[in-house]
Amino acid sequence: MGIRRKRKRATQKESGRWAKLGSLLMLAVFGLSLALPFPPSPKIPTPPEPIPELWATPRPGDKLNRGMALSSVLAGRGLDAAQIREITSLLRPYKDPRTLRPGAVMRFSSAPGEEIPNRIGIELNPDSILHFARVAPGWTVRLELVPFVMDTVRISGLIESSLWSARLGGDLDRLGDKEFEELVYALADVFAWKIDFTRDLRRGDAFRIALERKVRPNGSIRSRHFLAIELRNRERVIRAIPITGPDGRFTYYDEDGRSLHGSFLRYPVPYRITSHFTNRRYHPILKRYRKHEGIDYGAPTGTPVEATASGVVTRAGFAGGYGRLVELRHAREIRTRYAHLSAIAAYIRPGVHVNQGEIIGKVGASGLATGPHLHYEFILDGKHRDPLTVQLPEQPSLDRSRMEAFRRDRDKALRLLEGVPIPYDLHVAFAEPSDRDRRPVR
Ligand SMILES: [Zn+2]
Repeated sequence: MGIRRKRKRATQKESGRWAKLGSLLMLAVFGLSLALPFPPSPKIPTPPEPIPELWATPRPGDKLNRGMALSSVLAGRGLDAAQIREITSLLRPYKDPRTLRPGAVMRFSSAPGEEIPNRIGIELNPDSILHFARVAPGWTVRLELVPFVMDTVRISGLIESSLWSARLGGDLDRLGDKEFEELVYALADVFAWKIDFTRDLRRGDAFRIALERKVRPNGSIRSRHFLAIELRNRERVIRAIPITGPDGRFTYYDEDGRSLHGSFLRYPVPYRITSHFTNRRYHPILKRYRKHEGIDYGAPTGTPVEATASGVVTRAGFAGGYGRLVELRHAREIRTRYAHLSAIAAYIRPGVHVNQGEIIGKVGASGLATGPHLHYEFILDGKHRDPLTVQLPEQPSLDRSRMEAFRRDRDKALRLLEGVPIPYDLHVAFAEPSDRDRRPVR
């Protein structure tokens, strides 16, 4: 099913009106964001360069198809060999004519009453257009950088069953469907170590987002990044604040400066390793060599076992040679297993969310075990890995020296979310019979 059909709009009437505004939308939107009661973006929008009236008699643009040479397109428009040579040599400093990407838009226009174009525009990429103009006796070239404006968009959502079917509010009408889809993926990525968006969301969960965009005059998005995110998942509220790294990439922290990009505790019990991860080991009970796809920690019966990262319980109970087993699913399809337990914590059952460091059970000798120990497994992409050597991307929390600046940025960012209403009470908006038939409100 398409995204569009799943999206719900806060006010149906408004969306129609917005759609009609067409190209004026961006202008209106920019004015609106300045009028909103929060500090405007400190960045000043780049003033658009004046564009000369190139397209006196515009004709439909050509798209450069795969395998099509620029020279043959130009020849098709009636340009002679000398002119084609001149244009390609003017193009060369900007772009190798042979590497013009398929799909690049080319526009032609000509003087009144003439067939052969005297103006040619080639879209090098979405942000730059090369303009060729015939001025006797030859051609000139000028590079136009497509201007953009910066705006701030704020969106809220109330989860019904999944992120895709959330009731949405806020500046929703400023987003295209594709942009909304990209936003959902980006959102899931930010919280990947905290929440599995395909499984952990519940009806009644909600989110609020503020993002900053660079928007081209045609409404397409040059770039976008989150300014602040608030997610309410059951009883917890998680907020995400971005920090720009030296490489220009964003990493996200919670409001206390802890990285949202989680890392694993190196051990689930603070005891010595009695058996390492190996592909070949003599098993004292089975009396044969077999892999040991985990690490054994020799610990007394009853020692509390901690979850090495936050995750969701996928198994909890007796499981053959494992004895009493707890299995957790974490971000990026990582699983951890805790075996031979003497007891499993009472509330640990499939579907329950646990935090890093939470006690999930107690060390024991259940299943195939010669004595009390914890057998700990780490499974990445379906393969058992040595938890001591597996390479995981890790992101430390902010240190003291950076906390003060972070708090300032955080407070500023979270203020953007204030006053963005979560659409708790939008049932009224969907009371029209046609809407109800299509998608009943439960
Ligand atoms: Zn073991």
